[in-house]
Amino acid sequence: MHTPHDVVVVGAGHNGLVAAALLARSGLDVAVVERDTVPGGAVSTVERFPGYKVDRGSSAHIMIRHTGLVERLDLARHGLRYVDCDPWAFAPAVGDSPAIVFRVDLDATCASIEASCGARDAQAYRDFVGVWGPRSQAVMRMFGARPAPATFVRAFWGMPTRDGRSGRTAGPELAQEFLRSGDALLDSWFTSERLKAALAWFGAQSGPPMSEPGTAPMVGIAALMHSGPPGRAIGGSGALTTALISSLESDGGSVHLGDAAVEIAPDGDRWRVRTASGDEHTATQVIAACHILTTLDMLSAGGHDGSTLDRWRSRIDVGPGVGSAIRVGTTALPQYANLPAGLPEHGVHSGLGLLVTDRGHLARAHGDARAGDLPRRPVVLPMGFSAIDPSLAPPDRHMLTLWTQWHPYRLSGGRSWESVREEATDAVLTEMDSWAPGFADTVEHVYAQTPDRLEDELGLIGGNVMHVDMSADQMFTFRPHPDLGGHSVPGAEGLFLAGASTHPGGGVSGLSGSIAAQAVLASRTRPVDRVRSVIGALPGLLGAGRR
Ligand SMILES: Cc1cc2nc3c(=O)[nH]c(=O)nc-3n(C[C@H](O)[C@H](O)[C@H](O)COP(=O)(O)OP(=O)(O)OC[C@H]3O[C@@H](n4cnc5c(N)ncnc54)[C@H](O)[C@@H]3O)c2cc1C
Repeated sequence: MHTPHDVVVVGAGHNGLVAAALLARSGLDVAVVERDTVPGGAVSTVERFPGYKVDRGSSAHIMIRHTGLVERLDLARHGLRYVDCDPWAFAPAVGDSPAIVFRVDLDATCASIEASCGARDAQAYRDFVGVWGPRSQAVMRMFGARPAPATFVRAFWGMPTRDGRSGRTAGPELAQEFLRSGDALLDSWFTSERLKAALAWFGAQSGPPMSEPGTAPMVGIAALMHSGPPGRAIGGSGALTTALISSLESDGGSVHLGDAAVEIAPDGDRWRVRTASGDEHTATQVIAACHILTTLDMLSAGGHDGSTLDRWRSRIDVGPGVGSAIRVGTTALPQYANLPAGLPEHGVHSGLGLLVTDRGHLARAHGDARAGDLPRRPVVLPMGFSAIDPSLAPPDRHMLTLWTQWHPYRLSGGRSWESVREEATDAVLTEMDSWAPGFADTVEHVYAQTPDRLEDELGLIGGNVMHVDMSADQMFTFRPHPDLGGHSVPGAEGLFLAGASTHPGGGVSGLSGSIAAQAVLASRTRPVDRVRSVIGALPGLLGAGRR
């Protein structure tokens, strides 16, 4: 079957769907082809255990609510409802010293830090949020545009250093603060190791450990949580995907599930996407929104220059694997010790459980994984979202995700994940039980999404939940490779890239989809129309300048 469209999107992950929905809203005929029978990629929810709605990938949507995309696509009208995660995180009690609870309200957070870590760190945290809040907002603005030096300069122009200096001399110091490791940043702000460890574990959610250079901004994102906390989509992470598809279809677009694209090839002045079933979709523009290495394979099948593809392939670092998600159905929520008074009814279960008290725990887990071994003691991050959304589990039951890092994709000694899955899962449950005694006895259902399963089920090559490593050398215009950093492919006009493999990277933001959609629209505008639109805008701009 051959179907012509304006645009074909390969991959119905949330980035592909954001791109498709924006383009359909602009009046284009858009088709999305998806390998899986379940749409959404790492933003999907299935009935993994009878009566339970279990996420297959992401659980907490940290970035997309800062982008305006939910509003632009009118996703509330398409059934999407977010609940604020408040508290948005907590770190465990140590002896008589209570747990640290991170609320949206900065005063409440500082009060909790003061009770656990002392007045000095509470004030330091308040100052940290004052400095890194605006910086992280600038990072989000930069994430929303195609990466280019001008975007970078515009986003940070005039921003002060930590001690309030701004102007030309402040630039290098500001740059250095961004290039530091997360650990160095934490050491320069705080004294309490517990607080540092909690924020380091938060920052490490992008994959790299906070000892790596350039990870300071990942810690800085914590400051943003006080102006916009993570959101939990009611019904599960996949509710975002359901709303995106509804938006796309209401504007005439279509999604074709269970039929992988196998070839992307030029076809005269159009593109042809061939699928495994033999269907062909042609379009003037194609957005490849799956893993970059999958895209390169499809281009290879379509006859793109092999030596160029090999060069890109050899330089793209998927990384050693990030972690695993252990999904559990339980008879009760975990009971953590010594929580402060005044919490909402759902306690701390709305938040990310940052179950560490010192960064040595994180460093050892990372070191073990680099050696190809299971961490001798896993680092665990529980999320108990059935406490704020009872629709996730049957009555009197709960659904939890226990995210753990680091788990290597390749194990030492040639061992398979099949052979260690049970051991790795037990270690996570034991670690949980050490923070919430009795928890392991409440577990009725377990499904361990180890790196091999993430690859098989979700197409996440090397088990990397962010597609390719989020190391500093693969961010911004370098992501996933300097030649491909503009969401386009040299020598393939009309082919655009989106997805976690591209700027701004992994996580639920929809931003690479939005950037690719803008690039498609710009490419469809004739140069003469672009000049006309600039001339048309001039009177307004000049008028604004005169006022
Ligand atoms: C277990 C786990 C937990 C996570 N937790 C969080 C979290 O709590 N918060 C957060 O912000 N982020 C989290 N993430 C990361 C985040 O979910 C992902 O980075 C993000 O969803 C990637 O979206 P995407 O659209 O770019 O790509 P993907 O979701 O990977 O989508 C790509 C799509 O392309 C499809 N595809 C692949 N090959 C083909 C082909 N040949 N033809 C057609 N289609 C194809 C795939 O099936 C998939 O549907 C998590 C990820 C995982 C896996």
